[in-house]
Amino acid sequence: MLLDSYKITRILPCLADPEKIRVIAEVSGEIHEVFPYLNGVLKGCIYNHPALTLTIKKDGKLFTLHAHHITLAKIEDEKEAEEILIWLKNLINETYENRDKIEPNYSKGADLKALDIFRLLPGTNCRKCGELTCLAFAVKLVGRDIEIAKCDPLFSEKYQEKRNVLVELLHAAGFEVPSEFLNP
Ligand code: SF4
Repeated sequence: MLLDSYKITRILPCLADPEKIRVIAEVSGEIHEVFPYLNGVLKGCIYNHPALTLTIKKDGKLFTLHAHHITLAKIEDEKEAEEILIWLKNLINETYENRDKIEPNYSKGADLKALDIFRLLPGTNCRKCGELTCLAFAVKLVGRDIEIAKCDPLFSEKYQEKRNVLVELLHAAGFEVPSEFLNP
């Protein structure tokens, strides 16, 4: 069994959707060995092999697996988080046990959508980045024509939580992000 146990360590507001929560669970041991096999069996994952992260999209929710923890976004409540964590635990262990029969997939997978990024920007259309709107900035960012650091307001204390989620999402998708803003 690769994932023996997990423990919810943080429950935060979900900034992609203010009516939902974001849940962080620490996992026993390291689980990254299963990521290329999960990426081989699940559709629409975002896999960053060098960073050891795999983001799974399911029913409009985002689950990001790291070597030592799991982040769940757009979650209704703690009960739903527990149900998803049980589902993930079973999925991880079953996939790991069957890895000899699965073709591992090391490709990056699905790209981020501009709207995923736009929801996590300040949304003030202040133009400090040189773009007319935050949406225009999001489109350029997803096309790798501009860097996240150009959105100066995002790096102020006011937008700390949004920034954390966005930086994590971008990092998981293989984008360059300022390393000092990555979660440990
Ligand atoms: S600097 Fe940031 S908040 Fe201002 S318009 Fe650009 S993306 Fe939006």
